[in-house]
Amino acid sequence: MPNKKNSILIIEDSLAISMLIHEFLKKLDYHDVHTCNTGKAGIQSFSDLVNKGIVPVVFLDYHLPDMTANEIMSNILSIRPDTRIIIETADAKNEEQIKAALRDGAYQYVEKPIRYENLKNVIKTLEEEEPDIEKQTFDHGQKIESFLKMSTRISVMRLSEYSDTKVEVVKEYVKKLESEGRIQRIEDIKEITCNQCNSMRIAMNFYCPSCKSSNFKQGKLIEHFKCGNVSIDESYTNNTCPKCRKEIKILGVDYKAIDNYYICNDCGDKFPEPAHDYICVKCNNRFALDKAKWITSEGLKLVR
Ligand SMILES: [Zn+2]
Ligand SMILES: [Zn+2]
Ligand SMILES: [Zn+2]
Repeated sequence: MPNKKNSILIIEDSLAISMLIHEFLKKLDYHDVHTCNTGKAGIQSFSDLVNKGIVPVVFLDYHLPDMTANEIMSNILSIRPDTRIIIETADAKNEEQIKAALRDGAYQYVEKPIRYENLKNVIKTLEEEEPDIEKQTFDHGQKIESFLKMSTRISVMRLSEYSDTKVEVVKEYVKKLESEGRIQRIEDIKEITCNQCNSMRIAMNFYCPSCKSSNFKQGKLIEHFKCGNVSIDESYTNNTCPKCRKEIKILGVDYKAIDNYYICNDCGDKFPEPAHDYICVKCNNRFALDKAKWITSEGLKLVR
């Protein structure tokens, strides 16, 4: 029976590349494709999808302006550790970087410039290796081990939640693995939990500081010195200032560009950083950092 095609989330700041990937995926019969141009918008969109019961395969640009690939991956994997993240990198020669990304939980990588053949191969492997742990009937031990395998480091409490196993049972099993020399105890891990249901599946939630909408994009602002207008570059059609209708001429002389600003699609406000709080993926409770509950438990690492 053919697999149902996964949803895809592309987190990529270059519109051209993201359109290219989209095109290729269409050819491979993937039609539910979402795109975001910043890490923050990407995490937001990922947790929205998970809330709707969809776990997308993620294409992640290694170099995004607002967050490192590592930060984005750890946010995504803390929501769903079984997410397949495919890193797009232009430095495929930089083996260390790729190794580090794979170690931190990336599933695969594709080299930029992205070629159809390469992307097709990655997708083929992915389709053949459908892991979908939660749908399979594993016993506790197998579940615990598969989550250990997926993580560079994981706490006992998180392992208990992900594998849906009581903490005492996890601790027993961990003792057994430890005596067999297969895992190693590391320093304790302190983590955020939901102040309502104690879940550790917590996602960062980014929003516009003015109207609290999460519908924002990242863009470039242009300031026209002469009239003082500051607005998104798209509003300067044909290099004409939308306020004074004069032509903008020389960068740095009569106008300047301000990169990496966020623009709210709902209220139009412009801000250098979106505000953020946390959202519990399990019960949808939204809370600020100072209202979060913290929990500390032993950290574990698989011996490789
Ligand atoms: Zn909760
Ligand atoms: Zn002007
Ligand atoms: Zn707004």
